[in-house]
Amino acid sequence: MRITVIGTGYLGATHAACLAEIGFEVLGIDTDAAKVAALNAGVLPFHEPDLPGLLRKHTESGRLRFSTSMEEAANFADVHFLAVGTPQSGHAGRADMSQIDGAFRSLLGQISHDALIIGKSTVPVGTARRLASMARKLGPTGAEIQVAWNPEFLREGYAVQDTLRPDRLVFGTDQPGPLGVLRSVYAQAIAAGTPVVETDFETAELVKVAANAFLATKISFINAFSEITETAGGDISTLADAIGMDARIGRRFLNAGLGFGGGCLPKDIRALQARTQELGLDLTMDFLSAVDQVNLRRRDKVVELVEQTLGGSDISAKVAVLGASFKPESDDVRDSPALDVAARLDGLGYEVCVYDPIAQESARRRCPQLEYPDTMEEAVAGAEMVLLLTEWQQFRTLQPADLDSLVSGRRILDGRNVLDAATWLDAGWQLMQLGRKTEP
Ligand code: NAD
Repeated sequence: MRITVIGTGYLGATHAACLAEIGFEVLGIDTDAAKVAALNAGVLPFHEPDLPGLLRKHTESGRLRFSTSMEEAANFADVHFLAVGTPQSGHAGRADMSQIDGAFRSLLGQISHDALIIGKSTVPVGTARRLASMARKLGPTGAEIQVAWNPEFLREGYAVQDTLRPDRLVFGTDQPGPLGVLRSVYAQAIAAGTPVVETDFETAELVKVAANAFLATKISFINAFSEITETAGGDISTLADAIGMDARIGRRFLNAGLGFGGGCLPKDIRALQARTQELGLDLTMDFLSAVDQVNLRRRDKVVELVEQTLGGSDISAKVAVLGASFKPESDDVRDSPALDVAARLDGLGYEVCVYDPIAQESARRRCPQLEYPDTMEEAVAGAEMVLLLTEWQQFRTLQPADLDSLVSGRRILDGRNVLDAATWLDAGWQLMQLGRKTEP
């Protein structure tokens, strides 16, 4: 089977390379000519473990190539995955559907025979039905254009393994025809035991946003308790361990800290609220505003702690920020809490040096006003305060001796609660963690 993947960002490039790995002939389509050129040259324009190898392997074998031409896409295959972006729009948190609608219309305009268009992007409920109706109105005469929705749950940093061995597959359709195609595309994962949920359009769309809303809520839930322990006393990590021992709750996604960011959770909870309001359900997802606010207040808290610690007097003090990506193992800086805090401190007049093992370039593009030295040692040299804001493995294992002779002030704010407090306090450092009292 030949397959196209339209939109070759984090999701689409991964999906295209994994489909080639499974054995399909794949054409990836993107409007960004520079991205297409890089991908055709076997160069991944972002960081994702294991993906560069797959991309090189299959661009070299000829099983995977990329193009900007939708006409080529329409002629190449009868099965098309839609993986374009659905970023936040300027309107009350609503999803910007211009990439979805643009790509869908443009493909429809080129197709001349029966085809199946499978949405993978995260979309407001109602999108698949709307596109299916658009296909009936605008599609070629004499040909049937079917639509299915197959939301994606991959995690950046684990995208290849999540794509090849997903936890579950969700197939949303309004007729049985596309199910056979979906089952053959995913035959390997299904044979390996991946559960499949076959359902209608709306459920499929909602499974994705519900999963993200739940995860965001879990993170903000524990971070709200951090606000309590910071005021009333108590230790957030012990609290999380203890409630996490209840199998009904579970310990994962209960790590208190600087909160969530990235290109999915923040915009997905806002888009869900906006969509429910459009549906007349004004209060239904109201709690997600609180989830969002708790999350953003963690960033305020870190900025406040820096100001309190450095006294506000030496406003030009050097602050070293360790981590720029929104999470480890990714160079994605979209709505990154670390970079947001760094930019705010820069705005307050601090000299901010950011070091991230992988995301230096994407961070520089997004926040060019900050300094990005080549090494962690340069970033922390002469710093009055070190902020650990993304929990890369190399920062988790930091020891006081790694920084002792470099910094000007032995002060560290561990925004991810990953450092061993006793080690740092015993070495004479002032250590701050979120939701935990760490003064000696
Ligand atoms: P992205 O911005 O990295 O990629 C989108 C790509 O689509 C870009 O390369 C863009 O140039 C291209 N594009 C835009 N309009 C186009 C058009 N008309 N024709 C062809 N290409 C076009 O976004 P992403 O992170 O890959 O996310 C894509 C979708 O997948 C979003 O809905 C997102 O919510 C969802 N998703 C993302 C992840 C993730 O971890 N990144 C995980 C699950 C779901």
